[in-house]
Amino acid sequence: MYFDENTVLFLDGKWLKAAETKTSLFNQTLHYGNGVFEGIRAYETEHGPAIFKAKEHFERLLFSAETMYIDMPYNVDELIQLSYELLDKNNLQNAYIRPLVYFGDAMHLTPGEEVHVLLTAWEWDKFLGDKQLNVMTSPYQRPNPKAFHVEAKVTGHYANSILASTHAKRQGYDEALLLDMKGNVAEGPGANFFYEKDGKLFTCPSGNILPGITRATIFELCEQFEIELEERFFTPDEVRGADAAFFVGTAVEVAGIASLDKVDFKLKWEESLGFQLAKAYQREVLELEPVYIF
Ligand code: PMP
Repeated sequence: MYFDENTVLFLDGKWLKAAETKTSLFNQTLHYGNGVFEGIRAYETEHGPAIFKAKEHFERLLFSAETMYIDMPYNVDELIQLSYELLDKNNLQNAYIRPLVYFGDAMHLTPGEEVHVLLTAWEWDKFLGDKQLNVMTSPYQRPNPKAFHVEAKVTGHYANSILASTHAKRQGYDEALLLDMKGNVAEGPGANFFYEKDGKLFTCPSGNILPGITRATIFELCEQFEIELEERFFTPDEVRGADAAFFVGTAVEVAGIASLDKVDFKLKWEESLGFQLAKAYQREVLELEPVYIF
């Protein structure tokens, strides 16, 4: 699904066939979750593939690396250039790009000596699909921000996301909503969260979340379309039965939520601000002129 016999990837300065690439079973990232990564999308536009917010994503990759004491051998411009080459070599237009910085063999608890940089890409549909999601408040909280750099994209952090998502799915829900340590709503396992009430949007401030690049884009779109948006802490009680809600992230884009803890949101998705923002987001990533739909 992620590669076939023709897929070419970038690894440590070389272009290699994905099917012929190997990694050591003693690598530190595999054993201890010490690695950093990104999730980026490219879209087919009128003038070829455009990597959406490439600079922001690679800046975050470098920031994530810095928090984990990883020396990155490439800068942002080089990584952007390599990513376009990657798309070209694989003949991809609409693609999900996955940079991963991982370590070589090291069974100690400081960064390994050998840093590997991988860039790979594949075609990927919307991560949570197109249907409106039934979401549950997870009993798993987001990690304590004093235990991890939660604003960095570190492989090991995703054990928490996997726990919450798996638990929710086993209870029959589509996805989880995680709280912070104080019981306020934080985010989804791989996406930021917004809800709508009385014509206004709310999302939590940064501090306990990965403050996403899509979230920042939604902020920009709200400003552009004069949608009222407030960053504040709120509990799931305030969200349940509100007008509407949605997740945002590179992989999920803008995904509507039908219910939280079996309590339906009042508006139909098509009547919500989230729906309009989903359409505006699609135009933004395709580099089309905004249409004033609000
Ligand atoms: N929160 C978490 C935990 C995530 O994994 C992601 C996906 N990177 C997001 C939020 C959304 O971030 P972005 O919009 O930058 O993809």
